[in-house]
Amino acid sequence: MNIVLLGAPGAGKGSQAVVMSAHYGIPHISTGDVLRANIKNQTEIGKYAKQFIEKGLLVPDEVVDKIVANRISEEDCKKGFILDGYPRTINQADALGGITKLDYVIVIDVDYSVIVKRISGRRMCSCGATYNTSTYDRSDCAVCGKKLFTRDDDKEETVLKRLEVYEKNTAPLLDYYSKKGLILKVDGSETVEKTFENVLKALNNANN
Ligand SMILES: [Zn+2]
Repeated sequence: MNIVLLGAPGAGKGSQAVVMSAHYGIPHISTGDVLRANIKNQTEIGKYAKQFIEKGLLVPDEVVDKIVANRISEEDCKKGFILDGYPRTINQADALGGITKLDYVIVIDVDYSVIVKRISGRRMCSCGATYNTSTYDRSDCAVCGKKLFTRDDDKEETVLKRLEVYEKNTAPLLDYYSKKGLILKVDGSETVEKTFENVLKALNNANN
């Protein structure tokens, strides 16, 4: 089963990818990880990509296309894969369509208000412990007693900005894949377990 996972930052896409990968025995391919692995192993394409990153530039589409194409041609992807973080643009979607056939594009759907609450409720401690104000209402760390803080990335205005970017970039992709009849929308507003149940239900329905 060849799957692309889409979802806003904070929708829990990464968690679903991990659970789905274990359940179906197909690899979770995070584009960021694959890119980093290529750079670390100093592959030709990795060295090329590194030049852009070092200059603070975006890695060009065709480089990411190639890296993903290489990865999904590997043996462990014969039975399928879960792509996470790719495609991000229509050009990339076209490139992907040129090398493989997708079965489903699963969209983890969560109201933005829920996402903002989830992320802006995150609290960190310098010892590495993490909390969420929905389940922890103290301002000091239960492990070491230090004062908790909010990462800049987790502040409400930053989250809203990231959601705006996501909306702008992903809307055309949703349209693109919905015309191909590939979209399965899944409610992701509750727990990881509940969301996974919804994923299974959607896939079972679609496969019947
Ligand atoms: Zn601590």
